[in-house]
Amino acid sequence: MSRVPLDMLIPFLLSVVAFLLGLIETYLYYRFNEWYYRSGPAVIRESWQTRGSVEAVYRAVRAHLRADGMTGVERSAGFCLRQRWWVHNIWPRVWLGVDEAEEGAALQFEVRAFCSFTFGLIPVAILMAAAIRRLVLVKLTLPSLAAVLLFLLLYFTWLMRKNLAHIGRLRSIRRALAAEGLHVCDRCGYDLFAHAPGSRCPECGWSESNTIAEDSKPGLSS
Ligand SMILES: [Zn+2]
Repeated sequence: MSRVPLDMLIPFLLSVVAFLLGLIETYLYYRFNEWYYRSGPAVIRESWQTRGSVEAVYRAVRAHLRADGMTGVERSAGFCLRQRWWVHNIWPRVWLGVDEAEEGAALQFEVRAFCSFTFGLIPVAILMAAAIRRLVLVKLTLPSLAAVLLFLLLYFTWLMRKNLAHIGRLRSIRRALAAEGLHVCDRCGYDLFAHAPGSRCPECGWSESNTIAEDSKPGLSS
C-alpha cells in the first residue's frame, strides 16, 4: 500500500506546480511591481497621443485612478492599474505609460493577465474531481483532467473578455484627457489623434456621432 497510484500522483504534482507558480507570481508582484506590470505578453498594447504636457497628463490620470472600479499606483514612468480584488476578475494588469513625445505626452496602454488566478483554480478543480471520484466512483484519468483544464481555459478566456469590457480602455481617464487632445476609437482602440472630432474610425468604421444617433433613435437600423 506504499505506492501512490499514478492517477492520484499526476493531479497532486500538477497542484504543487500550480501552487508554486502562484507563489512566484505573488512575489514578483510585490517585489518588482512596476517591472511585473510591464513584462510578459500583452493582451492589448496601444499607443495614444495627446498634445498635453507630461505634467498635465499625470495630473488628469492621478485624479481618476479610482474611477470605474479600478485602483492604481503612480510610478515615475506611468501608472500601474488593476481592478479591485473583490470584483469577480482575473486582475488584468494595466500599464499606462506616459512618455514625452514631439507633439505632447504619449500614453502606452498595455493589458496583461495575472496567471495565479488560473493556477489557483487548478488545485480546486482537482480536489473537486477527487471528491466526485469518491462519491460516484469516477476514475480520475488523464482525459478527465484534460477536460477540467480545458474548462478552466475557456472560463479564463470568458472572464478576461468580461474584464476588458469592464475596464473599457480606461474610459474615465480617456474622457478626462479629451481636453489634452486624446481621441481614441472606443471599439478598437485606434488612435484618432490627428482626426477631426466625430470622424469615422478608419480601422473599424466606428463613429461617435453614429453611436449617439443610434442611442437617441432605438428603432432605427444601422
Ligand atoms: Zn475603431
